Amino acid sequence: MKIGIDLGTCNSLVFLPGKGVVLEEPSVVAVSLNENKILAVGTEAKAMSGRTPDTIRVYRPLKDGVIADFRVTQAMLKYFIDKVSGRFRFLRPELMIGVPAGITSTERRAVIEAGLTAGAKNVYVAKEPILAAIGADIPINSCSGNMVIDIGGGTSETAVISLGGIVTCHSVRVGGDKIDIAISDYIKKKHNLAVGEQTAEEIKIKIGSALPEKEEKKLSIRGRDLILGLPRTIKVSSNEICEAISDPLADIIQVIKLVLRDTPPELSADVIDKGMVLSGGGSLLRNIPDLIAQATGVPCILAEEPLHCVAKGTGVILENLDIYKKSIMSKR
Ligand code: ADP
Ligand code: MG
Repeated sequence: MKIGIDLGTCNSLVFLPGKGVVLEEPSVVAVSLNENKILAVGTEAKAMSGRTPDTIRVYRPLKDGVIADFRVTQAMLKYFIDKVSGRFRFLRPELMIGVPAGITSTERRAVIEAGLTAGAKNVYVAKEPILAAIGADIPINSCSGNMVIDIGGGTSETAVISLGGIVTCHSVRVGGDKIDIAISDYIKKKHNLAVGEQTAEEIKIKIGSALPEKEEKKLSIRGRDLILGLPRTIKVSSNEICEAISDPLADIIQVIKLVLRDTPPELSADVIDKGMVLSGGGSLLRNIPDLIAQATGVPCILAEEPLHCVAKGTGVILENLDIYKKSIMSKR
């Protein structure tokens, strides 16, 4: 049995060859501190976040795309593998796991080790920008340059790929999470209201926009008044949120410009012709392709199903190990 996994800071996805994406859950684990036992994983655990008594802790075991808490990551991996294995549960699967392009060899070994101790027979890893490109249907083995931008929860990674490998790549530890923080900071300052992480994310998804819009959207939100300490409801508008998130967006633009600057001229010409492809959950922020195109002068296209690109890429590689041999980093 072969299983492809996008082990993201925010979301983990599992891809089964021939079946597609079969699991998509937040990378969150709830642990009961008294018994040191796992209470919930994924969606159920995320719903507990910010609402727990002090006997329960909610973990996000990955940080910036790498393992921050080994034991919890391993338990989460095992839970995902068991959940999708069904009647093949007793066969040890082969895993293909996506890792950030900038990962160190120690961090990469931790991912392989976590997969093996979670029950895998073999663990292959491949770089996420390559997987995202494959998942976005880009012919990565051609000798022409392709640029992908993956905006995840913790990081944004940008790479130019040619002949199956990464030519130029930069990443920044800014993504959806920092955008959420910018929103809650802004509401704290401007409206004297404390809002939780989940509310900030909801605001971003419902009305957030990378560019100001003529037709403003409004949203009522609830939080705790910072002066009176009482619950309060306010209305926020899409244009004020746009202003609130401009700093993290500028950081993302910065890293894209860095990659464009470091790309060899032949490949830059290809990129201008074909445009850059956006993947990852952060790329679903409204108008972000336009913002990037305006800031760089290069066309920017949103991949189909941006949240699924990396997972799809793991599946395509698993199905065609021969063709993508050189894109696989290591094997055990
Ligand atoms: P990771 O690879 O780090 O797990 P994902 O690619 O799954 O990250 O993206 C998660 C991020 O995408 C989160 O910050 C989430 O808030 C954001 N996101 C998801 N959907 C949307 C949306 N419609 N608009 C804006 N941001 C979104
Ligand atoms: Mg990701």
